[in-house]
Amino acid sequence: MECKIAVLPGDGIGPEVMEQALRVLDAVGRKFSHKFHIAQGLVGGAAYDVYRTHFPDETRKLCEQSDAILFGSVGGPVAELHLEKWRSCETSSILAIRKAFSFNANFRPVRIFPELKGLCPLRSEVVERGVDLLFIRELNGDIYFGRKENLVRDGKRVAVDVAEYTEDQIFSVTHTAFQAARKRRKKVTSVDKANVLHVSKLWREVVHEVAKEYPDVQLEDMLVDNCAMQLIRNPSQFDVVLTGNMFGDILSDEGAVLAGSLGLLASASINAQGFGLYEPPGGSAQDIAGKGVANPIAQILSAAMMLRFSFSLGNEADAIERAVSSALSAGLRTGDIASTAETPVSTAAMADKIISFI
Ligand code: NAD
Repeated sequence: MECKIAVLPGDGIGPEVMEQALRVLDAVGRKFSHKFHIAQGLVGGAAYDVYRTHFPDETRKLCEQSDAILFGSVGGPVAELHLEKWRSCETSSILAIRKAFSFNANFRPVRIFPELKGLCPLRSEVVERGVDLLFIRELNGDIYFGRKENLVRDGKRVAVDVAEYTEDQIFSVTHTAFQAARKRRKKVTSVDKANVLHVSKLWREVVHEVAKEYPDVQLEDMLVDNCAMQLIRNPSQFDVVLTGNMFGDILSDEGAVLAGSLGLLASASINAQGFGLYEPPGGSAQDIAGKGVANPIAQILSAAMMLRFSFSLGNEADAIERAVSSALSAGLRTGDIASTAETPVSTAAMADKIISFI
């Protein structure tokens, strides 16, 4: 198979971990006889240095001409976010790309690697039951995109953010969730606040209509406050967790903590045509950038997700995921996942080991 991948490393640790993910893709390509055509583009602060914009037209065209986007991370050091180069960097790169390609569903798998159980902040008897869930979050609607207003009423400041969902937005992401559940353990937990919110009542109505088309998949509704609690009390009950934009934003970060490090998780944003962007959920980690110590696993697993979702290369994705587990079983740990008794390895050394298992 031949495919064209737009690679946008971005800032901070982005280029460091991307370099390793590309080495892994190269190894997979050679082993399984695929040709991955890589075309690199600038985004974030790296793009700003050249084009004075965080998401230049050149990068957009590159993405349009590609079969998938592999994204690193963007953004400056937290203390420098007021500087022109970094101001609104995340919004004007990531949200601009989401808008340009109408990505409407965000996938965030969360699982605990058996080798890293000790990193999970939950009690060991909870962790023993296993955690392997997939958040699917709607990306185009809800309170982030509704009417916004600042006004003064009766001499007092008032701020307004309107939450809005159309039935089409809900239909689309719900089908995505049920189709994903079919390939997993066939259960969807739909999260809402239908006891209070109109948007949630519509959400629940539409989800139940869609569910009739998937009789083989079990559906349960869960109120968002209960879901926040269940993720900590008993996360093994979840398979696919379907949420609106704001609830998903919060719950998926809560879920990320279960794995133990941002450096271990992959994510994907997919549009209705199946075009996807794959990226680690963490940021540019400027505190460790340039030192060669970042964990490359999130970027490598994002590449695996791209192979599975965009190119239907399930065996190849499995090979990468197995190689990551094998490297962890072999005892390799980058600084973010090493205990005090373990000696951390470099970004490149972790990737070398993963490649050796492919
Ligand atoms: P961050 O996610 O970059 O880092 C938080 C902590 O996690 C840091 O201690 C960092 O060292 C660690 N970390 C993250 N990824 C790691 C990895 N692969 N290996 C080892 N450790 C890792 O969040 P932050 O420090 O709050 O933000 C830094 C910049 O990133 C900001 O400019 C922010 O706007 C941006 N940001 C970008 C994205 C994105 O590109 N998707 C997401 C979040 C934040």
